[in-house]
Amino acid sequence: MTAIAQEDLIESVADALQYISYYHPMDYLRALGQAYEAEQSPAARDAIAQILTNSRLCAEGKRPMCQDTGIVVVFLKIGMDLRWSDATMSVSDMVNEGVRRAYMNPENLLRASIVADPAGARKNTRDNTPAVIHMEVVPGSTLDVTVAAKGGGSENKAKFVMLNPSDSIVDWVVKTVPTMGAGWCPPGILGIGLGGTPEKAMVMAKESLMAPVDIHELKARGPANRLEELRLEIFDKVNSLGIGAQGLGGLTTVVDVKILDYPTHAASLPVAMIPNCAATRHVHFTLDGSGAAQLPVPNLAEWPQVHWAPSPQARRVDLGKVTREEVATWAPGETLLLNGRLLTGRDAAHKRIADLLGRGEPLPEGVDFHGRFIYYVGPVDPVRDEVVGPAGPTTATRMDKFTDLMLGQAGLLGMVGKGERGPLAVDSIRRHGAVSLIAVGGAAYLVSRAIKTSRVVAFADLGMEAIYEFEVLDMPVTVAVDARGNSVHNTGPAHWRAHIGKIPVAVV
Ligand code: SF4
Repeated sequence: MTAIAQEDLIESVADALQYISYYHPMDYLRALGQAYEAEQSPAARDAIAQILTNSRLCAEGKRPMCQDTGIVVVFLKIGMDLRWSDATMSVSDMVNEGVRRAYMNPENLLRASIVADPAGARKNTRDNTPAVIHMEVVPGSTLDVTVAAKGGGSENKAKFVMLNPSDSIVDWVVKTVPTMGAGWCPPGILGIGLGGTPEKAMVMAKESLMAPVDIHELKARGPANRLEELRLEIFDKVNSLGIGAQGLGGLTTVVDVKILDYPTHAASLPVAMIPNCAATRHVHFTLDGSGAAQLPVPNLAEWPQVHWAPSPQARRVDLGKVTREEVATWAPGETLLLNGRLLTGRDAAHKRIADLLGRGEPLPEGVDFHGRFIYYVGPVDPVRDEVVGPAGPTTATRMDKFTDLMLGQAGLLGMVGKGERGPLAVDSIRRHGAVSLIAVGGAAYLVSRAIKTSRVVAFADLGMEAIYEFEVLDMPVTVAVDARGNSVHNTGPAHWRAHIGKIPVAVV
């Protein structure tokens, strides 16, 4: 009978989490490389180039591909005939010990993003535990393990619906994907769970994302069943929406569509959809009692030969001198290279600023937003000689409700985040003659290389959510909402949707 040692599972989970923090799955990388070759939208192509270049840098430097190193999701298929040779912990505790070791590894510190008491204090657990663990007991004598790390930006876009049995699944998906905005950092993969019950459909949607990207093989051989037909139809129609990389407008929004199904009630058609983002992270291994998993070291020569560098046409911006008049000349979709000092802040810092200003109290010493730019980021802690760890943007819409306060009372001139802005924020940007910029989500290590100094200026107790001041050199960003309130996340997809010409563009 196969005997699995407790330490082997712990070590394997820890190794797997370190591994997926810096190695993209090759199947996703190959698909992204093909998307880069095919892309005609300059802004989307530039974003994919940043993601691919970031991927290579992370593989070389063994540092996380994204600052959001994710919530850990583990699927265990436990053979009925195996036994544990020396277990003193529950299987869940073993997995969580692996998570703890991985996230606190001093060689490659990963950002702890998990908060306990989600409806209350939301206190960080500090070691990224607990994982979300799905266990199934199956025939056999081995332990089959899939380890994934899922970023909040893409998890936040998960969707679920109970359709009528006669409703169109494709229509629901095509109608729903545009409502997800760009905060899930496309190009990615859609995972769809069909049937069962609501909770079963959600788990299937997540598990479907663990399979390798193979839509082009499926296209080449043709569909063999209804699910494969659905995959192809959804793939084609979602890409025809023209959303593109980072929502900038382009030809590739998804590199695959995965579907799992399960019998359901005659009255029901549950449909769950979860996107995987540019930081697609998962690995699979099997323990058979012979020791911890040995994960294959990928060959760097197989990375797509894409090496992003700042465009010579990009406009350089001196953050120490930039004026409202200069900001007014920037156009949606234009690439800028930021130089100078940038303050940071995300959810918790904005809440504190709003509370302080609401009480008529001054902001902490050193925090003055007048005429300045803020970067929505929660960086990974640095290791070795790094100034800062990977430091990509977080979703800008979460800061929308603070935007008018920040642009008005606090005097901010511009913001850098990822994804689109909501109507309230866009209106505020227009009224204040301000600007919203995006950095590429999923290019966090590349962005961090543009950061030359970093210091905490306020709210140190918030950890990665503190306010930092970064000094940046040629930090690449794209104008998302200009001073007149025009948004590239509207104009870009509309342009490319019309260009692709398969789905009519609504005239508003
Ligand atoms: S790529 Fe985007 S959605 Fe994915 S983990 Fe990073 S920031 Fe979050």
